Amino acid sequence: MQGNINVTTENIFPVIKKFLYSDHEIFLRELVSNAIDATQKLKALSSRGEFKGELGDLTVEVKLDGDKLIISDRGIGMSADEIEKYINQIAFSGANDFLEKYKDVQENLIGHFGLGFYSAFMVADKVEIVTKSYTDAPAVHWTCDGSPSFSLEECTKEQRGTDIILHLSEDCKEFSEEHRILELLRKYCRFMPVSIRFGEESVWEDSETEKDDKGNPKRVEKKQPRIINNTEPAWKKTPSELKDEDYQKFYHELYPMNFEDPLFQIHLNVDYPFNLTGILYFPKVHKTIDASRNKIQLYCNQVFVTDSVEGVVPEYLMLLHGVLDSPDIPLNVSRSYLQSDSNVKKISSHISKKVADKLEELYKNNREDFEKKWDDLKLFIEYGMLSEEKFYDRAKKFCLFKNTEGQYFSMDDYREKIAPLQTDKDKVVCYLYANNAEEQHAYIAKAKEKGYDVLLLDSVLDSHFINLLEQKVEKCRFVRVDSDVADKLVPHDDKIPESMTKEEQDSLKPIIEGLLDSKKYTVMMESLEADEQPMIITQNEFMRRYKEMSAISGQQGFYGDMPEMYNLVVNINHPLMKQVLEDKDADHQKQVVSQMTDLALLSNGLLKGQALTDFIARSIKLI
Ligand code: ADP
Repeated sequence: MQGNINVTTENIFPVIKKFLYSDHEIFLRELVSNAIDATQKLKALSSRGEFKGELGDLTVEVKLDGDKLIISDRGIGMSADEIEKYINQIAFSGANDFLEKYKDVQENLIGHFGLGFYSAFMVADKVEIVTKSYTDAPAVHWTCDGSPSFSLEECTKEQRGTDIILHLSEDCKEFSEEHRILELLRKYCRFMPVSIRFGEESVWEDSETEKDDKGNPKRVEKKQPRIINNTEPAWKKTPSELKDEDYQKFYHELYPMNFEDPLFQIHLNVDYPFNLTGILYFPKVHKTIDASRNKIQLYCNQVFVTDSVEGVVPEYLMLLHGVLDSPDIPLNVSRSYLQSDSNVKKISSHISKKVADKLEELYKNNREDFEKKWDDLKLFIEYGMLSEEKFYDRAKKFCLFKNTEGQYFSMDDYREKIAPLQTDKDKVVCYLYANNAEEQHAYIAKAKEKGYDVLLLDSVLDSHFINLLEQKVEKCRFVRVDSDVADKLVPHDDKIPESMTKEEQDSLKPIIEGLLDSKKYTVMMESLEADEQPMIITQNEFMRRYKEMSAISGQQGFYGDMPEMYNLVVNINHPLMKQVLEDKDADHQKQVVSQMTDLALLSNGLLKGQALTDFIARSIKLI
C-alpha cells in the first residue's frame, strides 16, 4: 500500500528539522519512551487477563548497526490499522497548530513538543517500522523517506513488538557513535520504568575452572548485557520504605561527580489535586555556589525532560538538588505560560510549603542538629524570607541568629536577651552586628565591654535581610559595630560632661582636618569617656548598607555611585587632646595628631601605601 501522511503542510519534515535543530537529540527519548509505553500497556493487559500469552523478556533494546539505529521492544506492537490510525494520521493536531506553537520556541522551549514518533525525522532520512501486534494481526512493514508519502506492507516478524529503524542522515552521523548514544540514554532514560539494554559491558569475576599461580580462582572478564537504567528510582518508592542511607545512595546515583553528602532531603508525594513525586536535597553551601552543577532534574513519568526548572520551583529553592516528577507540568509551552499555569503555581507553592514544614520539623525535633546545619541553610532561608511573604511567616519561627561567639538564638529569644541593655531612648531595640569578626575586632570588643551582644551577619544577603527585618519587626534597628562609637551604638539620654569649651573645640578641629582628605573623612567632635580611644573611625550605617545593597543587585544609581566616606570621631575628653591644644611647637603638634589619626585608620585597615610607610617611619623615630 502507498499513501500520503495526513498533514496540511506539503512537507513538514524540513520544518521539524530546522526548528528543532538545537534540541534534536530528544528523538531518542521520544522513541525509547514509545517503546516503554508499548511494553507497559502489554503488562497492563496481561495483569487484567486480556493478554494470555507469555510476556517473556521485556527488555527494550537499542542497537547500532553501521548508519542504522534500531530501537526494539516486545510491547503491544501495531496492526496495519493501528499504523494507519496512529502514525499516518500524524499524532499532533496538524501542521498549522504546530507552526503556531513555534512562535516563541527558540528561547522558551523547555522540553519537547509531543512530537513523538516524528522526531525520528530530525535525524533520519528514512525511517522503517517493523511491527507485530500482540493480537493475531499479521506483522507489517512501514517505510517513509521523509516526504509525506509512505509504503505499508505485510511482512514476517517472529516476535511480538516493534522495531523502529532509523537510517541516520549525513549530518547526524554523531548518532551512529556508541558513546553519543550511551550519553543520551544516560541523560534521558536513566530512570525509565522498563529495562533498557544497549550493547554489552565487561565484568570481572572468579573463574570456576581456571586457577592463577597461587592456586586461587583466576579473575576472568565476562561480557554481560549493559542495562542503562534503574527502573525503580528512590522517588517512586514510598518514604517509609527508605532509610537515610537509601536517600544518600540515590543522591550519589543522581550526581555521580559530587562526593559530598547532602544535609537532608524532602520526599514529595502528592496525587491530588495534581500529581507530583520527587526528592529534594539540601546541599552543603559553598562560598562559591556553582549554579550550573547538580541542578534539579525534571521528569515526566520517569522520562527526563529538563534540568531548567525556573517557574516550577520557587526561585529561592533553585539551588537545591534532586528530582521532580510530574505529568501535570505542561512541557510544550513558553516559560511565561508555564508560570501562569494553575497546576504549576500549585506545585511551586506546595514545594515551598513542604520545605517550610521540613525545616520547622528539624528545628523542633532536634535543635542542636538544626544549629549545626544552620550555616548551610541560612542562605536558602534568608532568600526565601526575602522573596516570599508566606515563607517569611513560616520561617520567622525557625530562623536563627548567630552571634560572634558562635551561639544561636531564635529571633524571639534573641530580642528578649538583648532588650534590657540594648533598648535606646526611643524604645527601639538595637541589634548590633559585625560582618567580619576579624576586621571589626576592636569594635566588637568595645561593644562587649559595655555588655552588648554582637551578631555575625556575614552572608551576601544580609544587608537586604536586615532591611526586611527592620520593616517587619516592630521597634528594631540594626547597627553595625563600627558605625558609631560604642557609647552611641545604643543612644541613651545621659550625656558625658565635656571637658573642653566650645572655643577650644573650634580651634582643635581645623588642626585635625588639615591633616586629612576632607572628601573622605568628616571630623566630628564628641564627648566620650576619657579612657575611650582618642580618635575612632566610623561609617554611617545607612549609607554603607545602601551602597552594599546596590552592589549586590548590580545597580549603580545614587548610592552605588557614592564614594566611600567615613567619620573621624575625636574624643574631646581624652587627655591627649588637651595636650595637642596646648602644644606650642607646631611641628610636634602636627606629629602627634598624625600619629593619632593614623592609628585610628590603621585599626580600620584604612592606612595604606605611602601613608602607611610614613607612619612606620614616624613611629620608629618616636621610639
Ligand atoms: P504519543 O506517544 O505522544 O502518542 P507518538 O507520535 O510518539 O505520539 O506515537 C503515536 C502513537 O503510535 C502512540 O500513541 C502509539 O499508539 C503508537 N506507537 C508509537 N510507537 C510505538 C511502539 N513502539 N509500539 C507500539 N505502538 C507505538
